[in-house]
Amino acid sequence: MNDISNALHLDQPAGTRSTAEWQAADAAHYLHPFTDFKALAAKGSRVMTRADNIYLWDSEGHKIFDAMSGLWCVNVGYGQQTLVDAATAQLTTLPFYNSFFQTATPPAIELAELLAEVTPPQFQHVFFSGSGSEGNDTVVRMVRRYWDVLGQPERSVIISRRNAYHGSTMAGASLGGMADMHAQGGLPIPGIVHIDQPFWFALGRGDHPQPLSPEAEQASRDRFGLEAAGWLEAKILEIGADKVAAFIGEPVQGAGGVIVPPATYWPEIQRICDKYGILLVSDEVICGFGRTGNWFGCETMGFRPDLMTFAKGVTSGYIPLGGVMVGDRVARVLIDQGGEFNHGYTYSGHPVACAVGLANVRLIQREQLVERVRDETGPYLAEQFRAMAQHPLVGEAQSIGLMGALQLVKDKDTGECFDSSLSVGMVCRGHCFGNGLIMRAVGDRMIIAPPLVITREQVDELIRLIRYCFDLTLADVRQRGWI
Ligand SMILES: *Cc1c(COP(=O)(O)O)cnc(C)c1O
Repeated sequence: MNDISNALHLDQPAGTRSTAEWQAADAAHYLHPFTDFKALAAKGSRVMTRADNIYLWDSEGHKIFDAMSGLWCVNVGYGQQTLVDAATAQLTTLPFYNSFFQTATPPAIELAELLAEVTPPQFQHVFFSGSGSEGNDTVVRMVRRYWDVLGQPERSVIISRRNAYHGSTMAGASLGGMADMHAQGGLPIPGIVHIDQPFWFALGRGDHPQPLSPEAEQASRDRFGLEAAGWLEAKILEIGADKVAAFIGEPVQGAGGVIVPPATYWPEIQRICDKYGILLVSDEVICGFGRTGNWFGCETMGFRPDLMTFAKGVTSGYIPLGGVMVGDRVARVLIDQGGEFNHGYTYSGHPVACAVGLANVRLIQREQLVERVRDETGPYLAEQFRAMAQHPLVGEAQSIGLMGALQLVKDKDTGECFDSSLSVGMVCRGHCFGNGLIMRAVGDRMIIAPPLVITREQVDELIRLIRYCFDLTLADVRQRGWI
C-alpha cells in the first residue's frame, strides 16, 4: 500500500449489492443533480457507503479523504452520535408537525432561540426553510414585501454578482450568476441584475503581468477591492436608487471557486448600501457556522447584513434545513406593520431537522470548533497553503478559515492560465479522485473546505495528498505537451 495515498483500504464490506449492480440500477433510474445523465450512465457512479470523521468509504472499500465536507456542509464531521441521538429521539416523540396553524414545536422554538444567540446582535428572528435555495427564495419574497409595506413597491430590483452561487430554484439560480445555469430555462427571472465579482486574480491584476512584490500585490488587491465595490454604486445609479431593494453576496464566494475578496471590499459595499438605504443580504450558506473562523462570514469580512441566508452547516448536512435570519430593521417592519406574510414551506421548522440543528450548534459550541478554526487549524492551513504556492502549477493560493483555493496556471512567473478547453482542473481532480482525495475543480481552481474537526495532523495529511496529486498532474500536463 502506498503510504501517501489512501486509495486502497480494503476494510469495508461492499454492502448487499456489488458495485456493478448499484451502478446499473443508478443508471437506469436516478437522475443526478448538475450531471450529464448520459455520460454518467456510461461511466457509472461512484457509490459512497460509509463515513467517519473526515473520511468516506466507497462500495469498493476505498478510503477517501473528504476535503469538501460532503458539499460544504459536514462541519462537525461524520459519525457524530449526538446528532444521531437527537434525530432518533425527535423521530420517536414527534416526527412532524407544521408551524402554519398558529402552532410550533419545541425544537423549532429552541433552535430559533439558539440561532439568535450565535448570530450577530441585530438578528433576533429566523424564518426556516428546507434548503439554501429555498432560503434565498424567501429572501426575494421578504425584501420585496419589506419595501411594499413601507409604501415603496417599485423598490424591487435585487443586485447580485456574476459567478455567485445562491442555489438552484428559479429565484436561487436567478440570484446566482452562473452563466451555464442562466443558459437553461429562461433565467434570470425579471428584477435581478448582476455586477462583476471581486476576483482579483481574474479581473484585478491586468496591469501587472509580472510577479509583484508582496507589498505591491497587497496594494493592488486593496485598490481593486474598492473598485469592485464601486461597481455596485455604478449599478445603483444606473437603475435608480429608488428601484433597488437589496444587494446579495456570499462573504467569500464558494462554488464560484473560493474567491476571497480583498479586505477593502465588504466595508465599502456596506458604506454604499447604507448611503442608498439598500438592504444588505449575506448568503451564509457556506460561510456560516464557523467555516471562516467566526460564526458567520460577515463577521470575518467586517459587514453588518440586514438578512442572512443559512443552510448546510446548520445541521452539518445530517438532515436538510435552511432559513433566513431576519435583522431588526426588516423584522420590525414585517412584524409591526406587515400583517400576514403569505409565504412558507411544509417543512419550515421541521422538528427533526431543528432537533439535529440544535445538537449540531451545541456541539460546535461545546467543542469550540469556531475558535479552533480561527486560532489553530485556519492559520495552520494558511501557512501550509503559502508553502503550496511554491508549487510549479500554482499561480495563486488563497485560504480563509477552512476554505481554500489553489489556482492552476501554465506559467507561474507570468500567471498565464491554461487554455480553458484543456480542462486541466478536471485532469487534476481525476488524479485526486484516483488517489483517495476529494477536492473540487472550478475551472482550473482546485478548492477545499474540509470538516471543521480536522486536526493539524490531518491538515498535514491533506497537504501531502494535494502535493502528491499536483505532482502527478504536473507530470501529466508535461507529457501531454501542455506546458
Ligand atoms: C449550496 C448553496 C446554496 C443552495 O443551498 P441548497 O441547500 O443546495 O439549496 C445557496 N447559497 C450558497 C452560497 C450555497 O453554497
